Amino acid sequence: DPQVTKFVYDFTEGNKDLKDLLGGKGANLAEMTNLGLPVPPGFTITTEACKTYLDSGEEPTALRDEVSAHLDALEAKMGKKLGQADNPLLVSVRSGAKFSMPGMMDTVLNIGLSDKSVQGLAKQAGDDRFAWDSYRRLIQMFGKTVLGVDGDLFEEALEAAKAAKKVTVDTELEAADLKKLVTEFKKIVKTEAGRDFPQDPREQMDLAIKAVFDSWNGERAKLYRRQERIPHDLGTAVNVCSMVFGNLGPDSGTGVAFTRDPASGHQGVYGDYLQNAQGEDVVAGIRNTVPLAELEQIDKKSYDQLLQIMETLENHYLDLCDIEFTIERGQLWMLQTRVGKRTAGAAFRIATQLVDQGLIDEAEALQRVNGAQLAQLMFPRFDEDAKVEKVGRGIAASPGAAVGKAVFDSYTAVKWSRSGEKVILVRRETNPDDLDGMIAAEGILTSRGGKTSHAAVVARGMGKTCVCGAEELEVDTKRRRMTVPGGHVVEEGDVVSIDGSSGKVYLGEVPVVPSPVVEYFEGRMHAGAEDADELVEAVHRIMAFADRKRRLRVRANADNAEDALRARRFGAQGIGLCRTEHMFLGDRRELVERLILADTEAEREESLKGLLPLQKQDFVELFEAMDGLPVTVRLLDPPLHEFLPDITELSVRVALAESRQEPHENELRLLQAVHRLHEQNPMLGLRGVRLGLVIPGLFTMQVRAIAEAAAERKAAKGDPRAEIMIPLVGTVQELELVRDEADQVIAEVEAATGAKLKLSIGTMIELPRAALTAGQIAEAAEFFSFGTNDLTQTVWGFSRDDVEASFFTAYLEKGIFGVSPFETIDKDGVGSLVAAAAKAGRETRPDLKLGVCGEHGGDPESVHFFHEVGLDYVSCSPFRIPVARLEAGRAAS
Ligand code: ADP
Ligand code: MG
Ligand code: MG
Repeated sequence: DPQVTKFVYDFTEGNKDLKDLLGGKGANLAEMTNLGLPVPPGFTITTEACKTYLDSGEEPTALRDEVSAHLDALEAKMGKKLGQADNPLLVSVRSGAKFSMPGMMDTVLNIGLSDKSVQGLAKQAGDDRFAWDSYRRLIQMFGKTVLGVDGDLFEEALEAAKAAKKVTVDTELEAADLKKLVTEFKKIVKTEAGRDFPQDPREQMDLAIKAVFDSWNGERAKLYRRQERIPHDLGTAVNVCSMVFGNLGPDSGTGVAFTRDPASGHQGVYGDYLQNAQGEDVVAGIRNTVPLAELEQIDKKSYDQLLQIMETLENHYLDLCDIEFTIERGQLWMLQTRVGKRTAGAAFRIATQLVDQGLIDEAEALQRVNGAQLAQLMFPRFDEDAKVEKVGRGIAASPGAAVGKAVFDSYTAVKWSRSGEKVILVRRETNPDDLDGMIAAEGILTSRGGKTSHAAVVARGMGKTCVCGAEELEVDTKRRRMTVPGGHVVEEGDVVSIDGSSGKVYLGEVPVVPSPVVEYFEGRMHAGAEDADELVEAVHRIMAFADRKRRLRVRANADNAEDALRARRFGAQGIGLCRTEHMFLGDRRELVERLILADTEAEREESLKGLLPLQKQDFVELFEAMDGLPVTVRLLDPPLHEFLPDITELSVRVALAESRQEPHENELRLLQAVHRLHEQNPMLGLRGVRLGLVIPGLFTMQVRAIAEAAAERKAAKGDPRAEIMIPLVGTVQELELVRDEADQVIAEVEAATGAKLKLSIGTMIELPRAALTAGQIAEAAEFFSFGTNDLTQTVWGFSRDDVEASFFTAYLEKGIFGVSPFETIDKDGVGSLVAAAAKAGRETRPDLKLGVCGEHGGDPESVHFFHEVGLDYVSCSPFRIPVARLEAGRAAS
């Protein structure tokens, strides 16, 4: 089928919705072309071609033919031929996957230049210097990215040429110097790559295309994809784009622009411009750029046109766009655009701004933000009143407050962080080789480069604090130190603090304070108040959108009144999991010990009687804090031995008492009990409902405490809504036994108090057998709460306490899963059990209430899954509630 094997699309053929096939860059180049914007002509080789090549190890023949056809068409359009000696067409070969992967894939500019065509280019442009500069750039980029030559060798040769000429910037090198450099560079290629720099332009192009394909599987690209959870099988597209030149003199240049400030969201003119420069010069921070606004003075016509285009793009994409452009002798060219990355705060602000401008609706606004960004905004910040020594200020590239020991290379960053140190990676500028160190560091500080530098872009993507371009700092990576204004030297290991929201750099450790967003959720800052900041205002509105849209209710995991109150402030609609373990600890441990040791009914009764009033009081406080909202109380779950003394400690006590001939009868009995109750696999042993069935009176005491507390709240005109949850049920019989006893106790309390309690009884679904027999279990349960932590352990056979440290890193590295199944629900395995159990449960009991408790309840991706399978609520830790509310709203819109 010829439709399927179309491997190449002209820029005029694609559009922005073809990102899967054309990659982000190619799809958007096509979109801009179709909008009539000035894009240099070219074509895109599809991700399908890349996949076919990577699978088979060779270029499909159809691809070669298609490339030839498109190249012919391009040459005809441009009236030049690729690399032709007297009038050469030059192209760039650019990678571009579906998701932008900054710095991961390499682009080669000026393809088509050779010893012959460099003369033709000089003639075309009337500029020798320019032609030789372009040629040396080609050999340098091609040598490095296609032939794998160490890039430093070229850099060193370039530095040497500048030094010989006693100049500091490359623009001061003249044609003759550059010509010499070309000879030098070719020699480097020959020695290092063992072959001559290819003089055949088509060979250059084909090799570059293959190199882009291959770079998809480069180590750094793979690492980045794992970090960002980008699938490994997408492949990259390749764009072949006719060259335009920003290095043709002072009336030429290259720049980047944002339609809004990616840090604050404010509209305005944001970007950097560099005169007489090509391609990556701006991004690499090699020379100092000027703010985009200065372009107005330099070239008013191009500036006005650029602003016009920026408006066109915003109105077309309905979002912040970032742009790469080049001006060639006063003619503006668009080289790239995409919906731009932004900080978390800007995402919220931009979403509400766009709603106000009438460009998007509430549902769309919810798609413009996410829970991870909200979580990031809830990080603490530096205390502005702290007495600290500010030593520099750079660009606020990625927000957050980071404190750590200064390290000056990626290797040390990784090594120190592995041994538990918090580090700040300090570099002059970063490049893809620094990725490991950036991941390991708390924050990143550079002395060069702007908002679009590698450090800034990658840090923003990772949600990592970054200050870049702090030019007053002199970073000396060789000597592992940095000198701050005034001459003070920061050595490796000295503590520094960086503020990615303000760009400030401090010596020493700065105290941190809570974020305004948390202050808002806590009710200590109010939206609409005069002093409320813009961010709080935006978060407030987005949360309202989410609450209006969502179907899932959000509850909290909270064990005491204090947590419950906080959860309520954060918007919890009840408690989905109140653990009762803590009600057996502390001073009460002695009563528990006696319960376990009891030989007679009377002894047991007595310790239960001791525990009852204490637990009742706990519940009264909790129900009061959550008045009017459901509170799911889980009866005692962990293995009993967790409430007993440590076996070694107890043995020592017994031995000591023995040797001193002191009385130790109790200790001995305790020790025997501890031995008797010792289990090899406590998590699969005597716990949960099994405990309730084995220790008479334990669960009924808890049920009585709950019922009496509820009755007391009723008497006080409260509205308690307790739900009793039985953990670790594997079969309906277990539940029925517990239930019968509980019903009886509740009836007794109701009779004694005259209150109508309406307590419901349900179970956790956390064992595969429970999930598989959910239809039966629902006969005895009014609700299910999926305990996805234990369910993940038991479905995978993973011991959570062990596997994360022992082999998960290896599993993640091997790509067996992209993220721990304890963090994001494993949809195919654990998830399908949840879905099936929910369905079976509802078939038995249509009004069965369904929820989930456990870490997954606050994980964005998992929340979407729970929405899809029709649960009624998720329950998570109080701090995750806003994230869950937001994601539930996003899932429903
Ligand atoms: P990246 O994905 O790293 O941004 P690009 O493919 O966008 O890589 O190219 C790197 C740099 O080269 C960018 O600054 C881009 O604008 C510039 N560039 C790419 N193609 C051309 C071209 N045909 N003419 C001029 N500059 C180009
Ligand atoms: Mg690049
Ligand atoms: Mg680019």
